[in-house]
Amino acid sequence: QEAKLDRNTYRFYTPAMHERAVTRIQMINYLRQAVDRRELSLHFQPQLDVSGKLVGAEALLRWQHPVLGSVNPDEFIPVAEETGLIIPIGTWVIRKACETLAAWQKRGLNIPVSVNISPRQLKDVKLQRTVISSLREHGLHPSLLHLEITENSLVENKEGLISRLQNLSDIGLKFSIDDFGTGYSSLSYLKRLPIAEVKIDRSFVIDLPFDTQNTALVQSIISMVRGLGLMVVAEGVDSLEQLNFLRQNGCHIIQGFYHSEPLSHDHFLTFAEDYTSAS
Ligand code: C2E
Ligand code: MG
Ligand code: MG
Ligand code: MG
Repeated sequence: QEAKLDRNTYRFYTPAMHERAVTRIQMINYLRQAVDRRELSLHFQPQLDVSGKLVGAEALLRWQHPVLGSVNPDEFIPVAEETGLIIPIGTWVIRKACETLAAWQKRGLNIPVSVNISPRQLKDVKLQRTVISSLREHGLHPSLLHLEITENSLVENKEGLISRLQNLSDIGLKFSIDDFGTGYSSLSYLKRLPIAEVKIDRSFVIDLPFDTQNTALVQSIISMVRGLGLMVVAEGVDSLEQLNFLRQNGCHIIQGFYHSEPLSHDHFLTFAEDYTSAS
């Protein structure tokens, strides 16, 4: 059974219910040990402004398991979320991101890191303490840490959530709306909540400027977000045509394979050296 779970044949949603149940349970057991066994790492995807200057990085989780191989975040993050394992895993991510920020600061690389915060983490009352203590441990200014949240996290916006976001924002943390345009929330949170940045989902960036619907949607999103005085990031930018369109239409920050894939820490440092000396 286990032999089937190698990198190439691994399927989480198999049609056979039995097999699916087994693999799910195995996945959960493996995931439970992932932090302690040091199987997790962070990769960093560069974010550049439209003049080509490096202005930030998104931390993206990677899981390398001895049997499963490298597991895609789209496969294990939902499982971590459903089981609550996202809380210890997410804590590891925040701590590692702060450790990395401190290393960058020492090298004079003065850019923020964005970390993804899942809906379950956002509901967790301990998130605030984790974030503050991780920043403090390394003497980091809170504005160096950006928290990416999704619209769906905000659907059942309880009063407690709003005040917790406000507290973190008051001490200087920045919030980004990730995958903007794909959630079920109303837009009113953009004025109610302390949001600094909106990330246009990759699905709207595909085929720019050739897809007329995406062209209209992206132009509207950029003008709305700019009108609110917030920053606009486009994700999934993988061609020069997309980049030029986004630049001409006022998008502030570009993230995607066109500039770089998510990079290991060492590769990110090399990338950063090139892009800070070039500009
Ligand atoms: P996301 O936050 O929207 O991250 C962007 C995803 O798009 C990343 O996938 C990135 O590799 C991919 N991407 C970036 N540029 C391009 C491009 O030009 N073309 C294409 N095709 N893809 C591009 P990744 O790393 O597989 O992560 C997938 C999702 O998993 C993330 O989506 C995020 O929702 C989640 N995730 C990753 N790391 C974490 C984490 O530490 N915590 C939580 N809660 N979720 C995470
Ligand atoms: Mg993200
Ligand atoms: Mg996204
Ligand atoms: Mg996404």
